[in-house]
Amino acid sequence: MRLGALEAGGTKMVCAIGNERGEIEKRISLPTETPEITLPAMEKFFRENAVEALGIGCFGPIDLNRASATYGYITTAPKLAWQNCDIVGYFRRALNIPVGFDTDVNGSALGEATWGASRGLENSMYITIGTGVGAGIVVNGKLLHGMLHPEAGHILLKPHPKETYEGKCPFHKNCFEGLAAGPAIEARWGAKGVELADRKEVWELEAYYIGQALVDYLMVLSPQKIILGGGVMHQEQLLPLIRREVKEQLAGYIVTKELEDLESYIVLPALKDNQGIMGALKLAVDEWEMSLQTPGDRVN
Ligand code: ADP
Ligand code: ZN
Repeated sequence: MRLGALEAGGTKMVCAIGNERGEIEKRISLPTETPEITLPAMEKFFRENAVEALGIGCFGPIDLNRASATYGYITTAPKLAWQNCDIVGYFRRALNIPVGFDTDVNGSALGEATWGASRGLENSMYITIGTGVGAGIVVNGKLLHGMLHPEAGHILLKPHPKETYEGKCPFHKNCFEGLAAGPAIEARWGAKGVELADRKEVWELEAYYIGQALVDYLMVLSPQKIILGGGVMHQEQLLPLIRREVKEQLAGYIVTKELEDLESYIVLPALKDNQGIMGALKLAVDEWEMSLQTPGDRVN
């Protein structure tokens, strides 16, 4: 089967052609301009490649409620030109094929759960720490949506006793994203993360916040594995520091075989930088399969 995958981001749109085994045949990247410019350009690529279904992992917030009149819309996105954009409807109408849709981080979580580090596990989390912080959550083998979709990057964190920076989130200041995303690192220390590689205190503080967030997620969701992606995680010294913080902050409260082996429990993405696009491919597979069922059999 020829399937289309779209990783829709605020700066670029990665479009790929692949199959149900997760094999990517070709891909292109287009800058995210306005919907009027970028949607037809993507449509052209998918049309030329005769895809039979499309999956979209999308920046948000987005409407994932299939019963809603605005299902498949990008809703209140900070990227103004894309607010209230019916991205799913556009491709459904233009290409007349099933279109799967989820958040970008849920897409990455699905990619890893299907073909990567959390393959075969019923419960896992994928967290990206980049320009923002977000999490995709697999619970009992399904992506967690709930009322909207998780916004796990905005959980409030306790500032470090020596913290002097108030936090960058315009809504909450000291949430996970506000204290630990790439722009927060830059605002606190006056330089980009990549330029701070040899500053030990930068990464110890970063690990303190990431560790704190992981402990909170772990207590609530009890994932069997946690995968950490995004630009900030390219700092190789960070992962061991995060594992150390998690161990310390858990304080021995939970005892499981997974937590005895934190090197296998908290890991980097196995799909390198392909988890997002491969997750979008799996969204296409799932939507295509769902389209074969009669409407009465559908579960969601
Ligand atoms: P996005 O979140 O926009 O999709 P990324 O995941 O690449 O993109 O995240 C970009 C953020 O990550 C920027 O704030 C950047 O400073 C930071 N970043 C990128 N690479 C590194 C690195 N090697 N070390 C530390 N921070 C990095
Ligand atoms: Zn916030």
